[in-house]
Amino acid sequence: MLENLKVGILGGGQLGAMIMRQAIDLGLRVSIMDKDAHAPCSHYTADFFCGDPASFEAVMEFGKDLDVITIEKEAVNINALRQLEKQGVKIFPAPDTIEVIQDKFTQKQFLLSHHIPVVPGEAIQGKNDLYRYENKLPVCLKKRRDGYDGYGVMVLKTKEDMAAAFDAPCVVEELVDIKHEISVIVARNEHGAVACYDPVMMVFSEEKFILDYQIAPAQIGEEMSEKATALARKIADALKLVGILAVEMFVTKDNRLLVNELAPRPHNSGHHTIEASITSQYEQLLRAVLGLPLGAPGLRFPSLMMNILESATLSTDKPGKLKRLLDIPGAHLHWYGKEGSRPGRKIGHVTVTDNTIENVIAKAESIRKILN
Ligand code: ADP
Repeated sequence: MLENLKVGILGGGQLGAMIMRQAIDLGLRVSIMDKDAHAPCSHYTADFFCGDPASFEAVMEFGKDLDVITIEKEAVNINALRQLEKQGVKIFPAPDTIEVIQDKFTQKQFLLSHHIPVVPGEAIQGKNDLYRYENKLPVCLKKRRDGYDGYGVMVLKTKEDMAAAFDAPCVVEELVDIKHEISVIVARNEHGAVACYDPVMMVFSEEKFILDYQIAPAQIGEEMSEKATALARKIADALKLVGILAVEMFVTKDNRLLVNELAPRPHNSGHHTIEASITSQYEQLLRAVLGLPLGAPGLRFPSLMMNILESATLSTDKPGKLKRLLDIPGAHLHWYGKEGSRPGRKIGHVTVTDNTIENVIAKAESIRKILN
């Protein structure tokens, strides 16, 4: 029924590859564009175009014969998407939605204008503006654009930290006393139907701001879970979202719920939905952007997802370690097939499911021991 639709995805990393698998189930063929000729998706399809999604010309060339375009990364050329939309290509999420989220400060302003609680923060042009915060340390400094996996985030505690700060347009935020970090994935289609996943709880390693592991459902109590999903739905409606959105939030030590940031695409915090949910976030994205009924988002079993990062220790016996990992009952390995070996880079993930959250957490310890 859908095989004549020409669907394009901007970005060809692991998220794109996971969308591709669901596209196969729906009988779709997708074209993918990434600036890296060896990006994960390049191995799986002949419809792979090497070009920078941030380039106007490249996006125009890629999109001109497509019916629908969606994204798996935010760094895309908005002007080209607007132009393609005028030519009749459907762009979901809408260019306006992507644009407001691309910049952490405009994102914050948008949320505030809709009375959504966010972490208080101000915009600065560069390092020279930081002197204003000398008496307000510690603060959290974030690049307005193109940050990911914590690479655009630093905590400033001292004047020396300020001297080593990013020199780029940034947001300076209050340092939040975080009790839990959670994420809610929400999908919305053109007809305004909304499907919201249960919150997942994230645990980050302290020094690098990179995800250590994530459990679903989040252990935050029913009331807080309901508050979080209600907030995610409100944001999806405010954005008039068509597609999928991850809403990262903080539960503060004094039990307030604050939105940290949005991602208008499938998200790391939704990897577990492949095995653990009735409808995966990847299938849900395709349903949402193709105007199909949304799938049920319910969780089938408790689950845990752990990113696998490139490291010297892992490299000592990668095949042996991955085999031991696959020996854990209910462990599902996702290997991204990335080239290069930058330490800290996400090169795969493992999802574990079980009947109880306690069993799942016990398995996380075994996995961590194998990978470290
Ligand atoms: P990225 O876009 O790189 O994922 P985030 O905004 O999600 O960046 O920040 C990365 C991590 O930094 C968060 O998951 C959280 O642990 C920490 N962090 C971010 N903002 C704050 C803040 N205002 N106060 C305290 N910690 C923060």
